[in-house]
Amino acid sequence: MNKLRFAPSPTGNLHVGNFRTALINYLLAKKISGHFMLRIDDTDIERSNLIYEEQIKKDLVWAGMNWDSEVKQSQRINKYKEVLDLLISKQLVYPCFEDPEELNLKRKAQLSTGKPPIYDRKSLNLTDKEIEEKISNGKKPHYRFFLKSEKIIWDDLVRGECVLDTASVSDPIIVREDGRFIYTLASVIDDSDFKITHIIRGEDHVTNSAVQIQIFKALNSQIPQMGHLSLMTDIDGGGLSKRIGSLSIDELKKQNIEPQALTSYLAKIGSSQNVELHNSINQLINEFDINSFNKAPTKFDHEFLKNFNVKFFHLINFNTIKERITENKAYFTEEFWDFIKTNVSSIDQIHEWLDILYGNFYIDKNYDFETKNFYLNCFPDQPIDHLTWSKWLENISLKVNDKKINIVKNIRAFLTGKSSGPELSSLIIFLGKEKIFQRLKTDN
Ligand code: GLU
Repeated sequence: MNKLRFAPSPTGNLHVGNFRTALINYLLAKKISGHFMLRIDDTDIERSNLIYEEQIKKDLVWAGMNWDSEVKQSQRINKYKEVLDLLISKQLVYPCFEDPEELNLKRKAQLSTGKPPIYDRKSLNLTDKEIEEKISNGKKPHYRFFLKSEKIIWDDLVRGECVLDTASVSDPIIVREDGRFIYTLASVIDDSDFKITHIIRGEDHVTNSAVQIQIFKALNSQIPQMGHLSLMTDIDGGGLSKRIGSLSIDELKKQNIEPQALTSYLAKIGSSQNVELHNSINQLINEFDINSFNKAPTKFDHEFLKNFNVKFFHLINFNTIKERITENKAYFTEEFWDFIKTNVSSIDQIHEWLDILYGNFYIDKNYDFETKNFYLNCFPDQPIDHLTWSKWLENISLKVNDKKINIVKNIRAFLTGKSSGPELSSLIIFLGKEKIFQRLKTDN
């Protein structure tokens, strides 16, 4: 069975880059009738926080990405210890005792002589006795995985053939002095135990992947297919800016970005497919094609997204938008939606218009009572229809020398409390005579 996972570290809010990784894993999983797992990478107890974990889950649900199973790395430490012991016994993992300053000095010395800063494996020469002595003197070891010297090659789902010569990387630290398991090993143990078939993540993980392929082999595990997405850059292509790099889903929600708009956008940028609005995530699944992604940097255009989100309100179908309505839902009819959709660009605004038309409208007592009263007296004495507005305006214009634009502005403000909105000719039909009179009467 095909199985994919999204593996966030709950050390902060979900940002747009990681959200895209989640989405692409989700879409590929569902496209190939697979399983989508949520794995919480919380081995860093100091930085991980349950609040962030909950927020990440909320964001995924908000976007319609429901996971089929869930696992937390913090609950799998015993398993990691078992595998660590096994790898030590096979001499694939070795204890090291250099402290950070020592490693730093080594790195500086290498760099100053033009050498790449690769760990010199000095601790590998320690005898068992020396190791025991260090430990009994209170020194705590960290552990490194011994990288076999070879060229690691894989066929990347996004980048094509990838090659990494292990001579260019240090043996990775997999357990820290304080016993904390580093992602490099823990992730492979999980991917192997949970039989993950495809790993899609950012290109910043390419070197990790090469190293992890050796760890998969050391564990005699099936190596998942790997795909590395290009990272997102600003619109000018100039590297991942701080602003976009840290743009959180929470922040986008505050900007009233709708999940359909965001997922429609993020599922297609960086690929050869066009960005189009979808009504449901199922439509995105059908269209999804991992082969359409390429190595070129993915440009994230925040302004485009905002405009696209406005278009969403003009194009989205009635049933989809109805699911998002939480107040005065009974009044949210197709007729209302067709009437209002070109005037709104957020759910809050839809709620506001439902309230203006059907709810408890608040009338500002400071309005000009004389003008209100005058307009009321000009209201045509006939049932309201599509001609009422022009008749009303004509009645007013006959009696007062005011610009039409001012009259429209006043009436709109008296009836809705707003300076813009749908055409008054339709609005007054929606409101009905009773509400119009209530709002123009000066004694309320
Ligand atoms: N927790 C890792 C990260 O957020 C997961 C990377 C992966 O998908 O393997 O970078």
